[in-house]
Amino acid sequence: MGLITSLSTENRQRLEAIATDKFHQLGLKVYQPLSAGVLAKYFQAKIFTTETVPNAEPEQIKILCDSDNWSAGIIRKDPLWIVHNSRHAATRQESNLMHEFAHIILKHEMVGYDPKTGLPQRRQQDEDEAVYLGGCLQIPRRGLLWAVQKKMTIPQIALHFNASEEMVKFRINVSGIYLV
Ligand SMILES: [Zn+2]
Repeated sequence: MGLITSLSTENRQRLEAIATDKFHQLGLKVYQPLSAGVLAKYFQAKIFTTETVPNAEPEQIKILCDSDNWSAGIIRKDPLWIVHNSRHAATRQESNLMHEFAHIILKHEMVGYDPKTGLPQRRQQDEDEAVYLGGCLQIPRRGLLWAVQKKMTIPQIALHFNASEEMVKFRINVSGIYLV
């Protein structure tokens, strides 16, 4: 994935540390799964799907419902409202929401709106950071090390952290961890 080249080592380590801090703030060990629901509670966020989102233009909802091409977006910051695509697999929904929480944790600003979806757009650097931090929140590096030491397989790690197998592989890759 291009993220590895787009984000410096220092930045990736910073994001990893931010995720670890968040686990501590939430009273979780890094090997315990963190669900998007727990973060939603922490940020007092309301999570909507296209079916439940209030006050959206009918046309906009129609575009979103017909499309698998979007994941999630923040529609209001205070209080925090996030709309997400419930057509994605459950594990992907988790990572989509983690991505949005990553934007919140990193205090990223919106830079405009996507004319197709009406969802906020952001700078590419912010997107890359949110993808990376979202992954760290789902599977922190030290949690991954714990799982590898327990000789868990990729499907077992995925199940444990409510993540997709692709996410586990991605995290193994970027964390420089080798499965034995
Ligand atoms: Zn984003």
